[in-house]
Amino acid sequence: MKALGLTLLALSAAAGWSPFGAGVTLPVQQQRFQALAATDGVFVAAVFARQHNSEFVAVGDASLRQKDTRPWLPVGRIVAPSAASVTAAIETQRPLLVTAAKAGHKKLRVLRDFSLAWGGADELEAEPRLGSFRCPACGAQNDASADDCSNCGTPRGDAPRGSLSLALRTSKLEVEQCGFEPAPG
Ligand SMILES: [Zn+2]
Repeated sequence: MKALGLTLLALSAAAGWSPFGAGVTLPVQQQRFQALAATDGVFVAAVFARQHNSEFVAVGDASLRQKDTRPWLPVGRIVAPSAASVTAAIETQRPLLVTAAKAGHKKLRVLRDFSLAWGGADELEAEPRLGSFRCPACGAQNDASADDCSNCGTPRGDAPRGSLSLALRTSKLEVEQCGFEPAPG
């Protein structure tokens, strides 16, 4: 039985199989992070996790915003080809990021699902908060750094500033284009 298990392991390794999807394993993505982050023209982002809820930073909804004071917990850093492709890099590595978040934070282990958010690795405040905003006109979710809605152009208005953008579901990158390094400790 043991030999069979080892054979299967060897076969799946040879086929590039992993529970995170083809080619997406922590050692490989960590190597990719180190290689890619050392090159010019890439974007390094810090990724955070928090219990999933329906809260978006909605314009004019201060009560909803203040109700949720749970901190965003650090997961690690990822590298993507550009700031515009960070959510795609997160989506590509999402199962890996979820596993790392659970490994790093006891309170996340019991949760089936939680939200991921990201900010530029150099621009984060001590207690990062969500600054991405939902457009009051069309409902599109916009990045923390945006001044206008990317969908309809409506100005950001009174939506609070912050360093984190919510990582919404999006299309994926080629896995070779991104990397991940877990937060220390
Ligand atoms: Zn809009």
